[in-house]
Amino acid sequence: MKNPSLYNEKSKKDLLEELKLESFKRLTCSFYRYVSIVNLNSFRDLLYEEWSALKIFGRVYVSNEGINAQISCPQHNWKSYNEKLNTHRVLKDIPKNFAVEEGNSFHKLVIKVKDEIVAYGLNTNEYDMNFVGKHLSPREFNSAMNRPKSIIVDMRNYYESEVGKFKGAIAPSVETSRELLPEIKRLLKGKEESEILMYCTGGVRCEKASSFFIHNGFKNINQLTGGIINYGHQVRNNNLESQFIGKNFVFDARLGERITDDVISNCHQCGGTSDNHIDCNNDACHILFIQCYKCSKKYDQCCSIECMEFNRLSEDEKRTLRKDPDQVVSMTRNSTSGKPRLIT
Ligand SMILES: [Zn+2]
Ligand SMILES: [Zn+2]
Repeated sequence: MKNPSLYNEKSKKDLLEELKLESFKRLTCSFYRYVSIVNLNSFRDLLYEEWSALKIFGRVYVSNEGINAQISCPQHNWKSYNEKLNTHRVLKDIPKNFAVEEGNSFHKLVIKVKDEIVAYGLNTNEYDMNFVGKHLSPREFNSAMNRPKSIIVDMRNYYESEVGKFKGAIAPSVETSRELLPEIKRLLKGKEESEILMYCTGGVRCEKASSFFIHNGFKNINQLTGGIINYGHQVRNNNLESQFIGKNFVFDARLGERITDDVISNCHQCGGTSDNHIDCNNDACHILFIQCYKCSKKYDQCCSIECMEFNRLSEDEKRTLRKDPDQVVSMTRNSTSGKPRLIT
């Protein structure tokens, strides 16, 4: 039996109401560490207890291989939160990556015990975290990108690189982490001696992927320290020339942080220039897609006419339709189990 005080039980509607009424500011931040963690369930419960007392929201994965956390902390609790983190040996002085653009990122705290903190589906004999790619600072990454033979690889899914990426980067056409490593291995076949420059959102995906590629015979694997988030800060605050163009996709309610004003993608409905990710307004769909302002008005923030029409029905009518399996299929044709997907 789950202990109700260790899990969120409020509805999304209530949580969003409460968030609106908050009179203080929040900080969005992410951190990860590959470190052996034992007694996972009690560790998870302890974190939930400590963090919910400080009104922390976010999405956190813990596993035997480490922790990956994206959180939102009330500004006035930041000091206490940091102190709490430091009481745990595995979290002591963990490097934090603050958001490039603030905004309401999360509205509840979810902490999950997982097999891996990044879901590559790797066996432990396929990599060795004692050997990871060389960490490059944003400035070093810029110089390395300028070397003509270096190969820049985006370690994210297609819907992320679609709205923003480094100039000249290989951006694999995959939708899940599980597909990513086999696809990149295929793309980099024969390049084992080349200088490989990897990047992802905050660094957690490159850390493990770099280890996998070293294990597979690659000799010169490098990774961007702190990922695009850290790079974005250097561009904004330290006059670094941005070789990243567009937006940094993020997995919270903000959906993206702008790094440069370039818009490199198109509306999935009319084809016009847009990099505005939308979560389809139909609760039975929730597909993630790119929609321009005009189409957003036209389709009421829905991905299709079907979703828009379904959304306009009364709650009773929706319920009846949901009971009929054939109707549900047509009304939710694009839905996937809550995972972001693109309309194709
Ligand atoms: Zn459009
Ligand atoms: Zn939809």
